[in-house]
Order: sequence, then structure tokens, then C-alpha cells
Amino acid sequence: MRIDSDVAEKLAEVVSDLKPTMNAFDERFFPGKGEEEEIVASYFLFMTAIDHRTRIRGSYEMEIGGEVLFGSDLLFRLARLKHEADPEFFTAKRMASLTLKEFREVFIPDGVNLWDPEVRVALLRDVGSKLLILYDGKAYNLLERAGDRIRGNPMEPGLSELLKSFIAYSDPVEKKSFLLMKFLKRRGIFSPKDEENEEVAVDNHLMRIAIRTGLLRLEKSWFPLLRNERSSTLEEDIALRIMTRAALKVVAEKAQISPFTLDDFLWSLGRLVCKVDKPECGECSIRNACLGGGSWFGWAREPFNENWYY
Ligand code: SF4
Repeated sequence: MRIDSDVAEKLAEVVSDLKPTMNAFDERFFPGKGEEEEIVASYFLFMTAIDHRTRIRGSYEMEIGGEVLFGSDLLFRLARLKHEADPEFFTAKRMASLTLKEFREVFIPDGVNLWDPEVRVALLRDVGSKLLILYDGKAYNLLERAGDRIRGNPMEPGLSELLKSFIAYSDPVEKKSFLLMKFLKRRGIFSPKDEENEEVAVDNHLMRIAIRTGLLRLEKSWFPLLRNERSSTLEEDIALRIMTRAALKVVAEKAQISPFTLDDFLWSLGRLVCKVDKPECGECSIRNACLGGGSWFGWAREPFNENWYY
């Protein structure tokens, strides 16, 4: 497995003018502008903890107010509705004792399917109870301890190290950690002094795009996995995602943009254009940087591994 520096160069040219697109103040999904910082920090800490794949064994989709929402958008829309009705819901005390019934009432309305509610409840309870024990129940205390550092050392840990004490954030490739940092940075409540340590939040969409564009070049022995003939092992999954992260860091550095900005763009591209079943290469804004305009690896799917990391 290797990073193709020619593809990285071409991708960097195409994305160099990107601006951030994810609006962390969008009140359909997130707390409003005037909310207290503790409420905002808690909301994102808990919600990002359960923001992993929803399209397994059926799609997670629903129409709300005339808008069809799916995946992460639906998860956050339902959370926001609950938050408006019950502002204390996303607090350490409530989350530490969350029941499956309560979770279903909020996130799985009638007719909607979500594959692993038990896991998501366990993750929320873990974050809630550890926040109570370690940080006096306050997400803001966690941020204070991190001292606006992404990475630190045992004496002065950064947010990435501190988050690892929560099961939800124990992913070796730190998908949820970097997604959380992106949210908090955009909300102005986490201002990393070490921006050079920012990374993309590698999920299935980013991994798929890295493979299909040829940015990540894989030996033929990987091809059965790209045809989904079997599930990947956890080691294979981590290897692919860590290389995807490294490859996209190269692209972001060459393009002189933040990995968080690149993350916004690639996540949307993966959901709406470079889709799992049928990539719409004719509509794709990066097709000139993609091997064969999408014809080389357009067939490839990202390998699948069942975990709660992303
Ligand atoms: S050109 Fe096709 S395969 Fe390549 S990134 Fe775009 S949609 Fe995906």
C-alpha cells in the first residue's frame, strides 16, 4: 500500500480553493448561537460519540418538516429536536443512566431503522459516567484540561489523548475525535495552538474516495476486499484508514488548506456523488484528478468492518 504522490498533487490543485462548508451553527442540527458553552460542548461530545455508520442492515432515513434526512443528518436532527424539548437531556447525569427505551424514543421513531442501538446507548453511558468521575460532569472541564492542544504529553495531554479514555473515542485512527475537534473549533470553544496536528476524520466515505481516486494505491491482494468478498479484519481496517489519513494530510498540505476543510468537502462528495453503489463520475468535481476520470477504480467499494469507530 502506498500514497500516489502524482494523484496527491492533482487532487491538491483541484481542492486548493475550498472553503469550509459545514456550518456548526446550523440550528436544525446543533445548539443555537446564544447557548452556554457547557451545553454546546456536552451536546457535541455526546452526539459525536454515537456518530458512526447508520446504513448497515437497512437505511436510516426519515422525512421531517418536508425534508428527507438520512444518516448523520437524521441523527443530529432528532437530537436537536430532543435538545429543544428537554435541554438537560445531553448532560453527564442523564447520559450516565440512559436507557435503551429512552434512546429508542429519541433516535428511532416508528418506521425508522437503526442497526446498533444497544452499542450507542453503551457509548453514551460510558461518556456520561466518565465525565462525572473525571471532570465533575462538565465537558468544559475536559476542554480546559486539554488547554487548546490537539496533541500533548503525559504531563500536559491534548484533547486527542484525553478523549481516548472514553470507549466511543478509542479508535486508533481517531475519526470521532477529529470530527469533535472540527465541531468545537468551528463553534469557537476549542482553538488549537497546534493546528499542524489537525487531521481529517476518516470514515467510510473518505476511505472509498482515497481508494477510487488512486490516491491510495493497493496491491492486487487487496482487491477481494475492495469487491467486498469478505469483511476486513480490524487490523486491515485500521491500516487502510491510517494510510487514508496520511494521504489526505499530504493533499491538504500541498493545497495549503486545513484538513478540516478538506474533510467537509470529501464527506459530502462521498455521500452525494462518489456513492457506494454507483459513483456519478460525470458530475464529480474531482474527476480530472481521479485515475481514468473514475474508470480505473470506480468499481471499488471500501472494505467493511463492523465497529463503532466511524
Ligand atoms: S470521478 Fe468517480 S470514482 Fe472518482 S472520485 Fe469522482 S465519483 Fe468517485
